[in-house]
Amino acid sequence: MHIDLHTHSTASDGTDSPGELMVAAAAAGVDVVALTDHDTTAGWAEAREAVPAGLTVVPGAELSTVSRDGRGGAVTVHLLAYLFDPTAPTIVAEQARLRAERRDRLRRMVGTMAADGFPVDEEAVFGGLPADVSAGRPHLARALVAAGVVSSVKEAFDRYLHNGAPYYLPRADTPVAEAIAMIADAGGVTVLAHPLAASRGPVVSTDVIVELAGAGLTGIEVDHPQHGEDARRRLRWLAGELGLVVTGGSDYHGRNKPTPLRAETTAPAQFEALLAAAKQADGTSVPARRTSAPSVHTGRARTSG
Ligand code: AMP
Ligand code: FE
Ligand code: FE
Ligand code: ZN
Repeated sequence: MHIDLHTHSTASDGTDSPGELMVAAAAAGVDVVALTDHDTTAGWAEAREAVPAGLTVVPGAELSTVSRDGRGGAVTVHLLAYLFDPTAPTIVAEQARLRAERRDRLRRMVGTMAADGFPVDEEAVFGGLPADVSAGRPHLARALVAAGVVSSVKEAFDRYLHNGAPYYLPRADTPVAEAIAMIADAGGVTVLAHPLAASRGPVVSTDVIVELAGAGLTGIEVDHPQHGEDARRRLRWLAGELGLVVTGGSDYHGRNKPTPLRAETTAPAQFEALLAAAKQADGTSVPARRTSAPSVHTGRARTSG
């Protein structure tokens, strides 16, 4: 069983369309794949439609949230959310707000770069991008590659776009505890994404993770390409202490990142625990707001003719 619970499509900053991603996952020998685009569920329908026979798709998203860092400051936290009702009004409103905020912020980054003489403009970054697609720095990075400013997305990040780089601007993200509650209300579950990926910038301290577990967090993404052995060991131990589910995923972004599908996976028993928690969340969501959360979807053999 190969279970990859973290991937991105063209609905955010990946380069495979949701349908292509499903085909690629099956070809890579993946049995269960979660689609977790940043701040959008726009890819769900196409993914379900395209899922090949035998592959199971778990509907999800990676939410941009902000947390206290445990050292007196604030830090960006990515929260993987699964199996929530995408039509829950709070979720629709918050995701729309985040996507608008992302575009506004990227527009300001493009404006500053253009003013400094870089050959980029809004058309090169957003041209043809549907409104429900979540725009991010990789879109600007690809525009810089296309304009010949840099030779790769990685070089664009290393020179201009990484956290703290000259052209980097922060986003106005959702407070993490609010995001956890919002997903739980919509019948879904949340997993703290790559909590110790220090190469992305500062990370939360252990006491913040303890606090999030108390706030309803279901799991921790332990196996992630940007976690070293030490980080995995510490997180696995912490998950055990806190009774949290341990997940793994490739954080596949197609050609925008080097990691292939299935590079990191989730143990079947842990996946079952995640599904069980989602079932429970669906049953206990506030009746007035109760909406039916979606379930996993397995592709069936198509009948020909
Ligand atoms: P944003 O959501 O606009 O802040 O952009 C964050 C996204 O940029 C992440 O989800 C990654 O896909 C990508 N990213 C962040 N750092 C790097 C990096 N050093 N190299 C390539 N991609 C990166
Ligand atoms: Fe991304
Ligand atoms: Fe992330
Ligand atoms: Zn991701």
